[in-house]
Parts: sequence; structure tokens; C-alpha cells
Amino acid sequence: MRRVAILGSTGSIGESALAVVRASGGALAAAALAAGSNWRALAAQARELRPLLAVIADPAGEGPLRRELAGTGIEVDAGTDGLRRAAALPEADVVLSAIVGAAGILPTWEAARAGKTVALANKESLVAAGGAITAAARAAGGAIHPVDSEHSAIFQLLAGRDPGEVRGIVLTASGGPFLRRDGALDGVTPEDALRHPSWSMGAKVTIDSATLMNKGLEVIEAHWLFGLPLERIAVVVHPQSIVHGAVELVDGALLAHLSPPDMRVPIAAALHHPARVALPWGRLDLAALGRLEFLPPDEDRFPALRLAREAFARGGTAPAVLNAANEIAVEAFLARRLAFTGIPALVAAVLGRFPAGSGQPGIEEVLAADAAARAAAREALQEFEPPRRN
Ligand code: NAD
Ligand code: MG
Repeated sequence: MRRVAILGSTGSIGESALAVVRASGGALAAAALAAGSNWRALAAQARELRPLLAVIADPAGEGPLRRELAGTGIEVDAGTDGLRRAAALPEADVVLSAIVGAAGILPTWEAARAGKTVALANKESLVAAGGAITAAARAAGGAIHPVDSEHSAIFQLLAGRDPGEVRGIVLTASGGPFLRRDGALDGVTPEDALRHPSWSMGAKVTIDSATLMNKGLEVIEAHWLFGLPLERIAVVVHPQSIVHGAVELVDGALLAHLSPPDMRVPIAAALHHPARVALPWGRLDLAALGRLEFLPPDEDRFPALRLAREAFARGGTAPAVLNAANEIAVEAFLARRLAFTGIPALVAAVLGRFPAGSGQPGIEEVLAADAAARAAAREALQEFEPPRRN
């Protein structure tokens, strides 16, 4: 039996991971469950799955969670210290990092430092702190197995391959809900942007998919996972989300990975790694699909992809600044305080306020840059017009 600490258990990835645990026939068990503020949902999960530890990040949830779990024998903890404890829990074999946003940086780093096998969904942690986290994992003898569908695909395609045979990799992007929309994007609403055509996900990653920032973050994530320079990480828009990634070999062959657009597939691959287990969910029928399309990303309409590559090229803490500014921008867009097109514009403005960096920042430096960029983004937001009503 493999015991899994699930950080972000009440989210979209967390719920899918619990489905994978339930479907495992006892091969997987929950060692710890951790969530942000929804103590009710966390308590229900804990009563069902009986982890050793349940952690609520929001301190206000600690009392109610303790009352809910009284007499169950499940330990309760809260706050950042609680998250760090769950991430390094000695009884956990695998840590699923599935908190959303920069709140996942410290727990992911903690799990890496503890030498855990990290099943990584929280791409923001590698974007902001890829150097520190991969170095910590290497030093402690741990491993990082991607959960993000594109990276899971590439990870599987690269397994056992001589790096000298690889020319580059290709990440696919759905293109989001505005791929075929005519006209300006400044008037689109949160409701429009939250309607993703092929994936069902949490709000933040859904908005990131609509701006293509998600793919920008994923290019940086791929760099840290696979050690390739950014020039060898290509992006292609593929609206059907059936091909998740491809590896181009030096002889001209392109190996692609296909699966239904269901996160339970890459989650199961990461949690059971290296085994493949039967899953009770959908299969791919190529003849029924009929056709798959591929097109280049439009970086004028969706400048976030280019911004992410630029931030990476600036080095140092610039990717952490990009990530933090994007989180504030997405939050402001969802609160109708910023237009959709204001998201990349705000990120660019904040990036411009910070000097280019050098070297790989340590975890403290990353967290300081994250905090400074959030403050700068909130301030810069004042100079942006609220979105037009239409
Ligand atoms: P979500 O919003 O559905 O869930 C987020 C989870 O994080 C919840 O359990 C929430 O309680 C927890 N959380 C939020 N703030 C927290 C805090 N401050 N401290 C502790 N916990 C906190 O998000 P999601 O869609 O499941 O995405 C999670 C991560 O996985 C993101 O990094 C996302 O980019 C990545 N990812 C998601 C998908 C997907 O299909 N949803 C696909 C690929 C990658
Ligand atoms: Mg992805």
C-alpha cells in the first residue's frame, strides 16, 4: 500500500485524486489531507478516508475542524506550519502538491526537502522556485513526478530515452474559450472566461488557460522538470485536448501522447508510478473523434505566453514576480476590477518595475519576491481602468 499526502484535497485536482484513491482497491491510502478554508468539505473527506492528519490552512477553520473530527483519532493541524507538517509527514510515501497558486510553493519545497516523491500539480511552485525545489529534491534523493497533463505526457515519452536523441518537446494548449472569438477581448466577462471548452478545472487555472498564461507557466515548469532550454520547448494549440504532449526525436519522428481530457489519468499515473493500473473511466475512440487540429498560438492576441518566456529570460526572481502579478491580476479580473486584456498588461507593468535578476534564488528570496510583486501589482492595479460593462 502506498500512502499519499494530498495537499489541496478539496480542489478540482484534490477531488480527482480522491477518486483515484477510491478506485485503487486499497493500493493507495490517504496519509494526510490538507485544504485552504473549507473545513466542512475537509472533515467529510477525512471521515471517509481516515488519514493520520487533517490540516486546514485558514486558522479560523481549526476549531470547527477539531470539533468535526473529535473522537476519530485523526490529528488536526492548521496554518502554514500544519501544511509543512503534512508535506513532510514521515508516514507519507507520496505527496500530491495540488494547492492552487503561490501558497503551494513552501509545502512543495518542504516535501522536496524531505526527500518525498512529489506528484506535482502546483506548477506555480516550479515557476517561482524551480531552482530551489529541484535542488532540494536532488539533495534529499526525492523525485518529482508531474501531474499536469502535458508534463505527464512528456515524462512518459521521455522515460528511459537517451537525451541525445531528443531534439525538443511540444506542449499542447487547448486555446481556451476565446480561440475562435472574433473582435477585441477587453469586454469578455468572468463567466465567458470560466467556460472552458475541454477541461473542468479550478477558477484560477481556467482563467490562465483563457489568457494562455497557463501555457507560459507550463513552459517554465517543463524546463525545470526536463532540463531543456526554453528554445526547445514548443507550444501548439490543439482545441480537442486529446494529444497532451509530444517529443521530437533527432531522426524526425514525433512521439505523441493521447488520452481523454480527464485529469484522473495523469493523477493515477503519478500516484501509481511506475505501475499502470486499470481505471474505470472513459477510453479514447479515434474513429469517433474523427479529426484533431493543430495551430500556432496567436501571441499578439494572447501576449501572456511571450511574457512568461521573457520573465524566464530575465532570470533570478522574475518568474516569481510574473506568477505573483498574474495571481493578483486573475483575482482582480474575477472580481470585475480588471478587464481580461488587463491581465497580461498588469503582469507586464509589474515585471517592468523589478530589475532583472541573476543566479538561482533560494526559497526565502522567492517568497520575498512573491510578496513584493503582490504589493506592486495591487498598487499598479489602481492605474488600470475597471472593465467596460456591456
Ligand atoms: P482549485 O481551486 O480547484 O483547488 C485548490 C485547492 O487548494 C483547494 O483544496 C483549496 O482549499 C486549496 N487552497 C487554496 N488556497 C490555499 C492556501 N492558501 N493554503 C492551503 N490550501 C489552499 O484548484 P485546482 O484546479 O485543483 O488546481 C490546483 C493546482 O493544480 C494548480 O496549481 C493548478 O494550476 C494545477 N493544475 C490543475 C489542473 C486541473 O485540471 N484542475 C490541471 C493541471 C494543473
Ligand atoms: Mg496543463
